[in-house]
Amino acid sequence: MKKIAILTSGGDAPGMNAAVRAVTRSAIYNGCKVYGVNRGYRGLIDGDLFEMDLSSVGDIIHRGGTILKSARCLEFIEEEGRQKALNVLRVFGIDGLVVIGGDGSFQGAQKLSEMGFPAIGIPGTIDNDLAYTDYTIGFDTALNTVIDAITKIRDTSYSHERLSIIEVMGRHCGDIALYAGLAGGAEIILIPEADYNEDDICKKLIQSKNRGKAHSIIMLAEGIGGSQDLAERIKDKTGIESRATILGHIQRGGSPSAFDRIIASQMGAKAVELLMDGKSSRVVGIKNNSIIDMDIHEALAIERKLNKDIYKLVDVLSI
Ligand code: ADP
Repeated sequence: MKKIAILTSGGDAPGMNAAVRAVTRSAIYNGCKVYGVNRGYRGLIDGDLFEMDLSSVGDIIHRGGTILKSARCLEFIEEEGRQKALNVLRVFGIDGLVVIGGDGSFQGAQKLSEMGFPAIGIPGTIDNDLAYTDYTIGFDTALNTVIDAITKIRDTSYSHERLSIIEVMGRHCGDIALYAGLAGGAEIILIPEADYNEDDICKKLIQSKNRGKAHSIIMLAEGIGGSQDLAERIKDKTGIESRATILGHIQRGGSPSAFDRIIASQMGAKAVELLMDGKSSRVVGIKNNSIIDMDIHEALAIERKLNKDIYKLVDVLSI
């Protein structure tokens, strides 16, 4: 392994830069040249690569977003597009690719591997929607951003004795809503993985109010959606003043937490180690506090399961 390329793809996540830094510095430490690819697979097809040195990744460990930029590239999903990307990799003399992104980006990496090009995936997404790893890079930072927002909304919600519905990111995976709900003291969690009944929610809110709770919080994942309409329906059914707040893209930004920087650094180094060992088509992750690697195909086949213990605990702690 002489030349490694690195790209960030799909939705950006805080900590991607720390991973880019770790890959770059570990590769150079091991005697490799490193090329950064701008705008994910788009840049790969367009030949938008540049050589990186030690200082290319200086002063970025604390920065959110990704210095390599991210993009979605439909052309890469087609065989023809991937062939173009492969040609570019060959022209630049690249021997291995590190892809930082989510499941879509991993599928791209898997396809490149199947075409004979060594590729390794690092999980970078705030959604935490990859079942093979306990945590993805960016999730912890996003959680902390959400907690900060909940704390602020709580102040006004308490003063006006309102119900707050807080809509957070997570189209298919409710982990942000679930974990932020536990940490933020929410009463109810509405996520794509669990069924719910609106009348039961209203009953719980009325009971809470009757026992003297000044305010309540519902955490709702983007995949459920409709938070404004839900607020109106609950107000009509219970008489409780209800407001919805959609947090949106603030959840994607910000300086990465210590945890995200640590796992990004470890995973970046691991990805380089795998390429140096001649491995391909693997993803790195963290399981039971250890950095692991796994076949991409196997990793993507693992079905996500709701953490029922946490889900139940939120309910127990908010009686
Ligand atoms: P994420 O990686 O965050 O899940 P996307 O699903 O948008 O984000 O995927 C990012 C990019 O990965 C896509 O724009 C596309 O270029 C590539 N990609 C996604 N799915 C595939 C696929 N099935 N085959 C090849 N490339 C894919």
